[in-house]
Amino acid sequence: MDNTGTKVKRDTKKGKRLHKKRILLVALVALASSVLIHNLTQFSNHRAASIHQSQIKLGAFEVIEPTIKYGFVLDTFQVDKKLVNENEFISDILTAYKVDYMDIEYMVKEYKDIFDVRTLRAGKPYTVLTADTTSSADYFIYEPSVYNYIVFDFKNKTVKNVERPIETRIETASGIIETSLWNTMVDNGLSYGLTAKMEDALAWSVDFHYIQKDDRFKLIYERHYIDGEPVGVGEIKGAYYKNYDNEYYAFYFENERHNGFYDLEARPMKKAFLKSPVKYSRISSGYNLRRFHPILKRRKAHLGTDYAAPRGTPIRAVADGVVVRKGYTKGNGNFIKIKHDKVYQTQYLHMNSFAKGVNTGVHVKQGQTIGYVGSTGLATGPHVCFRFWKNGKQVNHLRENLPPPEPMPEADIPKFNIIRDSVKLELDKIQFKSFKSVVKKQEVTRDSTLTTNP
Ligand SMILES: [Zn+2]
Repeated sequence: MDNTGTKVKRDTKKGKRLHKKRILLVALVALASSVLIHNLTQFSNHRAASIHQSQIKLGAFEVIEPTIKYGFVLDTFQVDKKLVNENEFISDILTAYKVDYMDIEYMVKEYKDIFDVRTLRAGKPYTVLTADTTSSADYFIYEPSVYNYIVFDFKNKTVKNVERPIETRIETASGIIETSLWNTMVDNGLSYGLTAKMEDALAWSVDFHYIQKDDRFKLIYERHYIDGEPVGVGEIKGAYYKNYDNEYYAFYFENERHNGFYDLEARPMKKAFLKSPVKYSRISSGYNLRRFHPILKRRKAHLGTDYAAPRGTPIRAVADGVVVRKGYTKGNGNFIKIKHDKVYQTQYLHMNSFAKGVNTGVHVKQGQTIGYVGSTGLATGPHVCFRFWKNGKQVNHLRENLPPPEPMPEADIPKFNIIRDSVKLELDKIQFKSFKSVVKKQEVTRDSTLTTNP
């Protein structure tokens, strides 16, 4: 049961490229047909139903189908299913089942590359199978995650790691913003993981700090299932977002040379600069030449943009570059300055602490964590004061026309267009789901996507 089916197997470092190629293939096949998503869903419902039919009545006789798990017919064993206790070692568990201590020691040593017994964790489930209860146990099965399990076979003195087959289904989601993106996703039963992936797909065209009531979105994405249970979100294949009268599409495209999200005209969604240095933050004070300073109690130009976020939130480099300054001043607190090219530099103030290894002269990548939100220096609360320098002058980065990213090579565009057309067709078919959510005070304060100026 565990190794059957035409299922997409789990990522392993080696198999990841193959896995991605398979997913791409699955996606292509799925999206080429306008009815397949429907069929897939029906197929999965059908499959789920058949799993529960383990008892089938045939006339007067009740035919009980065998219970098969971990590749064993469990009915022929005494099955003990338990959780690992605090400070419990594998030898503690197994000697209680009369397993020979020398055998345990031999298997632990011989198969330490397959399973390191020091990784046994309290609270994780295990199953012991014993064919003859007057004798020692036959198998010990430990489940470190939903993705795999470890089988100790005491008859053959072997240990193996079994990866559970992952089924990837293509699913859709949609929503209309009532209060915040986060609340809308929760109201629609969508996960934090999917919200984050949607933000990643659209982050360069939609400024999630300025989303509004009645904004709407649609998504086509991969969802991973094990034994019919959802275990995680895969790649977003296509995303749509509408705010005011602006519509944005993002399509995932990948080949040997590059991968990422592209718009309707095959332009990369990713820009040379991220819109903000902190995810899920809000702008607490914008770039303002005539701002009244809350601590100094006088007018002083605010040449940066303040992003309020909880203390310890990661601060990201908005573009590739080299750290040119790292230090502390009374006003700035802990700060970092990055040089991106001849024209642009960015600066991040009031950090609680710096990220490991980010020192002067070090090269950083776009999106890399360089430090953590704090309130060191002249600051009333935890935030990042983000400063954007162009040719040595501080400018409002939200008003800048920043350089465009590298375009997709001409040769790839026909292939992209095929994917774009099929994904767009599916996106356009999705009906919006609207939820009138009961807004609780608590949820509103937790909301970090609305923009307010205190
Ligand atoms: Zn500031």
